[in-house]
Amino acid sequence: MEYQKPIPLKNQDNSPYWDAADRHELTLQRCDSCHEYAHPPGPSCAKCGSTDLSWVSIGDDVKATIYSYVVSYRPFLPGFQDELPLIIAQAELEKVPEVKIMCNVLECKPEDIQIGMPVQMIWQDIAEDRALPQWKPVDE
Ligand SMILES: [Zn+2]
Repeated sequence: MEYQKPIPLKNQDNSPYWDAADRHELTLQRCDSCHEYAHPPGPSCAKCGSTDLSWVSIGDDVKATIYSYVVSYRPFLPGFQDELPLIIAQAELEKVPEVKIMCNVLECKPEDIQIGMPVQMIWQDIAEDRALPQWKPVDE
């Protein structure tokens, strides 16, 4: 079946992030000057303004804990109507706790989501050469 949702576009700033996702890995941008992670990626460091940025692989075993979340009952993008409600959360990465990452939490009922809940990254293959990072509760 054809993928109906908008496919995230790669640009100069974020293409390493999406290329890693296509390989089912997470990569994060890090500033070479102040060593802060920058997520979402951008053209310069949000902390010190440096444009010396590198990409650091976090690998394919990515866990996090829910830091905050909202449950959305309205589609904000076309193609999501059939998946409501959506759980949109911010999660703190286990390997890089200073980074909070936006996530769609799948395979979870809205009444089951809670702050502090462990989640893990999964990748949804949406096209031959594209995959989207998603999240689900960590298996017990
Ligand atoms: Zn910096």
